[in-house]
Amino acid sequence: MKEKVLIVEDNPLNMRVIEMTLKAENYILLEASDGEEALEMAMRERPDLILMDIRLPGMSGLEVARKLRETLAFSHTTIIGLTAYAMKGDREKVIESGCDAYLSKPFHPRELRGMIAEMLSQRQKDNP
Ligand code: MN
Repeated sequence: MKEKVLIVEDNPLNMRVIEMTLKAENYILLEASDGEEALEMAMRERPDLILMDIRLPGMSGLEVARKLRETLAFSHTTIIGLTAYAMKGDREKVIESGCDAYLSKPFHPRELRGMIAEMLSQRQKDNP
């Protein structure tokens, strides 16, 4: 079965870049451009993995991650936090919010693809 990847990103250009990066992979891609939409989409679609931009208008990606972790259905969903212009302490904040991993933008397409594939295969091992 195809795995569902939810991309949460408010910048249309970044969204397009991530889409293009993952296009050839065998995933169902879902998109949300703010926190509210991300939560709604997650509830409805139950994605296997969420790529979470941290800087979003309104609710931040950190808040969205925290809210998801409070919900039993999402206690084990893989979440990768994405930040631009990473600053000292960002990684810690992202992991503290409940994200499983962290990637700073700009990233190499191969890096993103590799991280997603690895985390999804890890997930299958944990929950066969
Ligand atoms: Mn953003």
